[in-house]
Amino acid sequence: MKAIQSVKQPYLLLTPGPLSTSDAVKQAMLIDYCTWDEDYKKVTREVQQGILNVADLDEKYVAVLLQGSGSYGVESVISSVIPKEGKLLIAANGAYGKRMAEMADCYGIEHVDYLTKSTEIPKLEKIQVIIQENPDITHFAMVHCETTTGILNPIKTIVPWVADQEIVTIVDAMSSFGGIPIDFAATKIDFLISSANKCLQGVPGVTFVIADKDKLVATAGNARTLSLDLYDQYVVMSAQEGKWRFTSPTHVVHALHEALRELRVEGGVTARYERYRENQRLLSMGMHALGYLPVIDAKVQSPIITSFYYPNEDFDFNDFYLYLKHHGFVIYPGKLTELDTFRIGNIGEVYSEDIQKLLHTIAAYNQARVVL
Ligand SMILES: *Cc1c(COP(=O)(O)O)cnc(C)c1O
Repeated sequence: MKAIQSVKQPYLLLTPGPLSTSDAVKQAMLIDYCTWDEDYKKVTREVQQGILNVADLDEKYVAVLLQGSGSYGVESVISSVIPKEGKLLIAANGAYGKRMAEMADCYGIEHVDYLTKSTEIPKLEKIQVIIQENPDITHFAMVHCETTTGILNPIKTIVPWVADQEIVTIVDAMSSFGGIPIDFAATKIDFLISSANKCLQGVPGVTFVIADKDKLVATAGNARTLSLDLYDQYVVMSAQEGKWRFTSPTHVVHALHEALRELRVEGGVTARYERYRENQRLLSMGMHALGYLPVIDAKVQSPIITSFYYPNEDFDFNDFYLYLKHHGFVIYPGKLTELDTFRIGNIGEVYSEDIQKLLHTIAAYNQARVVL
C-alpha cells in the first residue's frame, strides 16, 4: 500500500486516552477488511496472543476481545462473571471504582463498597475485616491505577490475600496494563480488564479481558446481557479461531496489532514503564518548580497521569487550557468534586522532550498571566 503522508496533528494529547499515537498505528487503519476472512481472523488471534505476551502468560489464560470502550469490558466482567447468588466487594477510591458499584446496581448484584478518600489507597487490614464480617463475599474488584487522580493502588498487597480466601478477583487495569509491569501469577488476578487506547497506545474501540480459563469457563450461563456475554464471546472466538460474535472494529484491531508490535520494538512493558516514569518525574519536578503542587503523595503516585492543585484562587483553568492548546498541548480537567485540580497525562507517543516543551510553555504562561 502506498503510505499516505502523515497528517499534522493539531496538538499533543496529554490525557489518559485516547492519546497521541504513532503514524504507523494510524496508517494501519487505512484498509477496509473482511471480518470472516482468514487474514483477519489471524490478526485477531495475533492480537490475543500479543496481549498474553505483554502479561507474560501461558495457555492457562486467555485474552478475550470485546467491542467498545473500556467500560464495556468492565461491565462485561461485572455482568457476566458474578452468579445470581454472588456477592461483590468493591474497593473504590475514585470514579472508576465507583462505576463498578453503579454497574452492580444496574444488574441487581449484591455488593459491599469499601470507599476510601480519593487521595488514599485501600488498606488490606480493612479488607480483611470486611471479608471476615461478610463470609458470603464471592467476588472482589478493585482498580489498579485510579485515573481519577493518578493514584496507584496496591494490587500486589491486597489481591493475593483475597484470592487465597477462594474469592474470585477482578482488577480494572485499564490505565496501567502495558505501561506498568504486573506480575499476574504472583498477584493472583482471575480477570483483568484493559483497553486498546491507553498504555498499549492503540486507538479507542476495543477492550479486552485477560481471564484465567478455568475461572472463565465456570461462568457459563451467568451473563445478564447478550452483547456483553464474556463467556460466549470467548467460546465463539475460540471455536471459530478469531471470528468475532458480532461486527468487529476491524480498523481498530489492526491499529492495536501495530501498537503491540511497537510495544515489543520499544523493549516491552519494562522499557515503556521507564519512559513513562521519566516523563512523570520531569513533569512533577518541573511543575513543582513552577508553583503547581501535586495532589497525590509521591509514594503512591502512578507514572501515568498526575493531578495538580490550582496554584492560587485567581487561577482560571479554562484560560490555562486554551493557552496550552494554542501552544500545542491538550491537558485534562480534574475529576474531583471536592478539590480544584487539573490533570496532565504522560502516556502515548510522549517523550521527555515533549514534557520539557510543555514546562517551557507553562513557564511562559505564568509570566504572561502573572499568576504566581
Ligand atoms: C479509562 C478507564 C476506564 C474506561 O473508561 P472508558 O471511558 O469506558 O474507556 C475504566 N477504568 C479506568 C481506571 C480507566 O482509566
